[in-house]
Amino acid sequence: MTLRISRFAPSPTGRLHLGHAYSAVRAHDLARHAAGRFLLRIEDIDRTRSRETFVTGIEEDLRWLGLTWDGEVIRQSRRMPVYATALERLKDQDLLYPCFCTRSEIAASASAPHGPEGQVYPGTCRSLDSDVRARRAGEPHCWRLDMARAVARVGPLRWHDATAGWIAADPLPQGDVVLARKETPTSYHLAVVIDDAAQDVTDVVRGVDLSAATHVHRLLQALLDLPTPAYHHHPLLVGADGARLAKRNGAMPLATLRAEGADPDRLIASLRSGRVPIGVAPGKA
Ligand code: GLU
Repeated sequence: MTLRISRFAPSPTGRLHLGHAYSAVRAHDLARHAAGRFLLRIEDIDRTRSRETFVTGIEEDLRWLGLTWDGEVIRQSRRMPVYATALERLKDQDLLYPCFCTRSEIAASASAPHGPEGQVYPGTCRSLDSDVRARRAGEPHCWRLDMARAVARVGPLRWHDATAGWIAADPLPQGDVVLARKETPTSYHLAVVIDDAAQDVTDVVRGVDLSAATHVHRLLQALLDLPTPAYHHHPLLVGADGARLAKRNGAMPLATLRAEGADPDRLIASLRSGRVPIGVAPGKA
């Protein structure tokens, strides 16, 4: 029987709030109920927004909730050479191109269509001549996936979602996504598929807000010969008012709840039943 391995993979750009705790408890319980392993991975590739103090805070908050993880905590910031190798492999397959556009140039582009994740890159740099690329190589640039070419290369793909069943991968509407940022030789999409495979993750548990990204992840797995885990995209925890959690309706940091004397056992029991704990959401106490 395969050992089930799940993970919680927060970005240390702030303190954990109830929404994070909900995701963490679902990933934790899935592994524990299957006598499997639950991993903690710190997704700190964004050097400008990640903070050491938030890494410490994440570990503290999880311990307070009683969620223990197995093995060492992987830090993405320490794995850049692994991502760079994968990037080279995609470049060798002629599936990436350098993009010199600035955010404001892309935002100003009248032709930029919208996909499930917002504005889609209009493809400006896709067809630059090789001599222009060579001349501009010293300028800041990111690397984008030539989505149409990549999709054509691998043919039809699918992935399994615990709630929605088999889903045909359709990454095309997201356009030429960034696989290496200007300031970091990787991106969320690239790092997450590489690490889920490297850590033998069998079950990815995360919010439904990330299910669009899974279409891209499935494609990258095919291009890089990586296994595809089972996906569990859970509904987002909602506040007492039925709206997505925000500070206003209950997404306060766990650290604040702890400081206010909240009982972690009670809190985790509520999260396990998919509710914002009574007494936590303002106005519902
Ligand atoms: N690091 C991502 C976040 O904090 C989650 C990644 C994932 O679960 O795939 O939103």
